[in-house]
Amino acid sequence: MNAVLALARPEIVSLKPYSHAAWLPSLTRMHANEAPWRPSGDSTAAGLNRYPEPQPHLLIERLADLYAVPTANVLATRGGDEAIDVLSRIYLRAGSDAILQCTPTFGMYQVAARIQGADVIEVPLERERGWALDAGGVLATWQPHIKLVYLCSPNNPTANLLDTAAVEAICTALDGKAVVVIDEAYIEWSHSLSLTRWLTRFPTLAILRTLSKAHALAGARIGALLAHPLLIELASRVVPPYSLAQPAVEAAVRALEPQELAAAQQRLEGLLMEREYLSAGLAASPLVAKVWPSDANFLLIDCSDADRFMSNTLAGGLIVRDLRAQPALPRSLRVSIGTRAQNDALLNCVRRT
Ligand SMILES: *Cc1c(COP(=O)(O)O)cnc(C)c1O
Repeated sequence: MNAVLALARPEIVSLKPYSHAAWLPSLTRMHANEAPWRPSGDSTAAGLNRYPEPQPHLLIERLADLYAVPTANVLATRGGDEAIDVLSRIYLRAGSDAILQCTPTFGMYQVAARIQGADVIEVPLERERGWALDAGGVLATWQPHIKLVYLCSPNNPTANLLDTAAVEAICTALDGKAVVVIDEAYIEWSHSLSLTRWLTRFPTLAILRTLSKAHALAGARIGALLAHPLLIELASRVVPPYSLAQPAVEAAVRALEPQELAAAQQRLEGLLMEREYLSAGLAASPLVAKVWPSDANFLLIDCSDADRFMSNTLAGGLIVRDLRAQPALPRSLRVSIGTRAQNDALLNCVRRT
C-alpha cells in the first residue's frame, strides 16, 4: 500500500465520505433544500442562498497555478489552520500517535495534535546557530509512532528560513515513514523557492500555503494543503462538504487574478524595505537587546526591558505579541511589519526607556 495510506488512520482510509448534493451548475437547483431567493445585501456572484461548490474548481486551478503544482495536489482549506487540523485527523490515533515539532514554533501544531488526543515531541531549534534546524536531532528522536513531522520555514516566531539541506535530509530519511509537513506561510518574504518542487520526489511530503499573509486575506480564511493526490483525496473526505464560504472563495479568486498578483508582489517588496527600516529602528531602541534576522513579515526581538516595551507601545495605541511564556523566549516579543506610518509610530514609543 502507498505510504500515504499506510500511515493514515485505518478508519479514515475505509471511510465512506458524505455524499453532497451533486454540483451541476447548469441545472435549476431543487435538490439541496436551499431558499430560492437571495438574501438582501448579497453581493456574491453565485448567490448566498446557494451552498458553495465543495472544492471550487476555479479556485483550485488558480491555487495550482500560483503554487506551480497539478490540481490533483491541491486541497483548498480554511487557512493553514484547517490544513493542520485535517492532517491531525487523518494521521493521529488518539492515545498512541505523536507529532514532532521544532520549537519554538507555531502553536497550532500541538493544539491540533492534543485535540486529537496525540502526543507532542519537541526538538529545539539551535538558538546559537540562528534558530537552525537540528536535522540530526530530529532523525535521532523520530520513532514510528511519530506520524507528522512539522517544519515551519520561515519559522514563526523565530522568523528564519530553515536550511534547505537540513530539510532535505529529513525528507529523505523519513520518506514513507512519516508525513513531513513543511509550513510555508511566510515563504513569500524569504527570497527562497517553495519546496513544492519536491512533492513528486517525496510522496509523504505535505506543504502548507496560505493567502492570509502575502495576499492580505487573513479574514477570508483560505489556504492550501499541497500533497500527493492520495493524501488530497483522504483530506477531502475529512473536511466538511461546504467548508469554504462563498464570499471567501470569490475574494480569493479575485486576489489571484494577474493584476492583483502583480499588486501583491509590489506590496510584498515594499514590505521588505519596511522590514529593514523597522529592524534598524528597533535595534537602536534602548529597550531592545537584539533584533533577529527575518525572512518573514515580522521581527523577533529580545528585549532588555520587555515590560517597558509592551507598556510604552500599549500607551501609544499599538500592540505587539508577547512571547515570554515560551521557555526558549524569556525576553522576546514579536512585531509585525506595518506601513511606514505604523512602523514610525511604534519606533516613537520605544525610542526612550
Ligand atoms: C499564520 C500562519 C499559518 C496559517 O494561518 P491561516 O490564516 O490559518 O492560513 C500557518 N502557519 C504559520 C506558521 C502561521 O504563522
